[in-house]
Amino acid sequence: MKYQVIIIGGGPAGYTAAETAGKAGLSVLLIEKNSLGGVCLNEGCIPTKTLLYSAKTYDSARHASKYAVNVSEVSFDLPKIIARKSKVVRKLVLGVKAKLTSNNVTMVTGEAQIIDKNTVRCGEETYETENLILCTGSETFIPPVPGVETVNYWTHRDALDSKELPASLVIVGGGVIGMEFASFFNSLGVQVTVVEMMDEILGGMDKELSGLLRADYAKRGVKFLLSTKVVALSQTEEGAVVSYENSEGNGSVTAEKLLMSVGRRPVTKGFGLENLNPDKTGRGAIRVNEKMQTSLPGVYVCGDLTGFSLLAHTAVREAEVAVHTILGKEDAMSYRAIPGVVYTNPEIAGVGETEESASSKGITYQVVKLPMAYSGRFVAENEGVNGVCKVLLDEQERVIGAHVLGNPASEIITLAGTAIELGLTAAAWKKIVFPHPTVGEIFREAL
Ligand SMILES: Cc1cc2nc3c(=O)[nH]c(=O)nc-3n(C[C@H](O)[C@H](O)[C@H](O)COP(=O)(O)OP(=O)(O)OC[C@H]3O[C@@H](n4cnc5c(N)ncnc54)[C@H](O)[C@@H]3O)c2cc1C
Repeated sequence: MKYQVIIIGGGPAGYTAAETAGKAGLSVLLIEKNSLGGVCLNEGCIPTKTLLYSAKTYDSARHASKYAVNVSEVSFDLPKIIARKSKVVRKLVLGVKAKLTSNNVTMVTGEAQIIDKNTVRCGEETYETENLILCTGSETFIPPVPGVETVNYWTHRDALDSKELPASLVIVGGGVIGMEFASFFNSLGVQVTVVEMMDEILGGMDKELSGLLRADYAKRGVKFLLSTKVVALSQTEEGAVVSYENSEGNGSVTAEKLLMSVGRRPVTKGFGLENLNPDKTGRGAIRVNEKMQTSLPGVYVCGDLTGFSLLAHTAVREAEVAVHTILGKEDAMSYRAIPGVVYTNPEIAGVGETEESASSKGITYQVVKLPMAYSGRFVAENEGVNGVCKVLLDEQERVIGAHVLGNPASEIITLAGTAIELGLTAAAWKKIVFPHPTVGEIFREAL
């Protein structure tokens, strides 16, 4: 069996590559060993956001009196929240399958093994291809902390499916995944402690806004241990014990459950990558150029496997670039304006340079900062809530970064991403007419 394109991995990178290539009339085989949709649809972006929406609805109902709406009794049903999450995932996975079918993509379930750059085996079958796109994604990284093998820790998968709430939860890792789960379990009444090695949560996001978000969650009862290194883990009858050291000395936190969320790493083993031996970067990732080509002609890498951005929207765009390159269409990947969003409540989102990244690159910039209260719509919909919008301009007054703390940061950040990607100056961006009243108008106010 011979194809023009074989894709290994059916996550956002793989299914986008398959759909784009199929739509263009190429013969495509997509091999996925688990469920179509990959981490994003099955155990990442979508299930977390579905759970968080239930928590947000619960919070809104509890605080409805702020908007003069009386709700007498508010409660939640965790098994039903989890069941709805699973229903949403099933629906979207079926949607992906339908799109691939309608674009004539051949799908095979099984574990792919690369024989050489033109030959892939799956089960008893061997397939030939002109082009190979590798999209095997990433997996949870569990650090080798002493005692880790003795503890019944949760990964995000367990946290997504637990139908009973623990009384207390300690989260090791205050990154995006850690903070989204901290938000969910805090809303549902769990005592949450976040242990983070860095001096602020949400590394990579704007530090000032991350600090404001942390202060907000601290007020709601989440405990934070920053600049704190976990040195040992153990299990007792009371639960998991996380021993740590920080500038104040040694200490420990005991909680009924422990969630490990220190990061993810690319899946590079188990599918015959060693038979290709592509060039690697100094950090061990597969080297790709801006067209997602590896050092081997006809072999492309997209998504988390690049070890670069670890975001679904990056994976999707990289996949389009790879297929356009196969088709001979001019295209190139740009990482200048990849938005990062944390779906806490309030949300925090950023795109382009942060003050920290601009300073470390020696970029001269100015910051325009406004309270979100400059947006009429924000005030109307966020009683008693503060937020901040920050825009970074370079010496030519071009927009190089934007950061928002406040709902719906996830939706409005694309406006700033567009300005950055197009290289707009503040003056040019301000000529765009924004609908009124919208929260996005905050950017026009800031310029
Ligand atoms: C809890 C959590 C929340 C997240 N939330 C967000 C979010 O809100 N927004 C966001 O942008 N990103 C989020 N992410 C990250 C996002 O899920 C990933 O960036 C995205 O899934 C990467 O897509 P991918 O296609 O590269 O890889 P994956 O989605 O990891 O898919 C890779 C696929 O390859 C398959 N595979 C691997 N090896 C083989 C083989 N040998 N043969 C066949 N199949 C194979 C796997 O089974 C898997 O289905 C989240 C991640 C987690 C864990």
